[in-house]
Amino acid sequence: MNPWVAKALVLAGAVVMIAIRAPHGRRSRAVKVAKSHRTPLETGLLVLAWAGFFVPLIWVASPIFSFAEYPLRTGPLVAGVMCLVIGLWLFYRSHADLGTNWSITLEVREQHRLITQGVYRRIRHPMYSALVLYSIGQALVIPNWVAGPSNLVAFAILFTLRVGAEEKMMVETFGDEYASYLAETKRLVPGIW
Ligand code: SAH
Repeated sequence: MNPWVAKALVLAGAVVMIAIRAPHGRRSRAVKVAKSHRTPLETGLLVLAWAGFFVPLIWVASPIFSFAEYPLRTGPLVAGVMCLVIGLWLFYRSHADLGTNWSITLEVREQHRLITQGVYRRIRHPMYSALVLYSIGQALVIPNWVAGPSNLVAFAILFTLRVGAEEKMMVETFGDEYASYLAETKRLVPGIW
């Protein structure tokens, strides 16, 4: 199958992702940060995440990764599109539920509220679940060993090194309220993990 199908999907996914995040980013930037937990490690992880996001776009625009190309097949393409669509839906819902409490890094905002409803009712990190689904979708849709898994690898590293610090920050901020939320929910997959 023509890889332009995959290129169009990757481009469309990136546009939708930016369109979902941009207005939320603007709104939450208007709310002051009460306490920042941004460390040099966090900055490094954000750079890595941006690199993971841009490599597929470089693949769309240039032949630089052509040495790692393989044929595009219907099965992985269909499965990948399903992951991308569900991932983008969850990305949208988690931004809507988190509202101005959202930050790109580890920060507590003034009048920060603990969200435990909507897509946060059964899992603590639906936005990260959305990004995992989206990254798996890209890995399936992009017929290239470098550009396909780049987002997944970058996000897996970010998640592994961030999630403990994020939950610690939330326990410090919300005390028993977050402790009972921890006891009642899973991290990424409802009822499982
Ligand atoms: N880990 C969450 C949120 C990612 S955005 C998810 O995957 O859905 C990261 C910021 O969201 C953190 O800096 C923290 O301030 C905030 N945050 C995380 N969980 C939250 C919750 N349940 N309620 C309110 N804010 C939360």
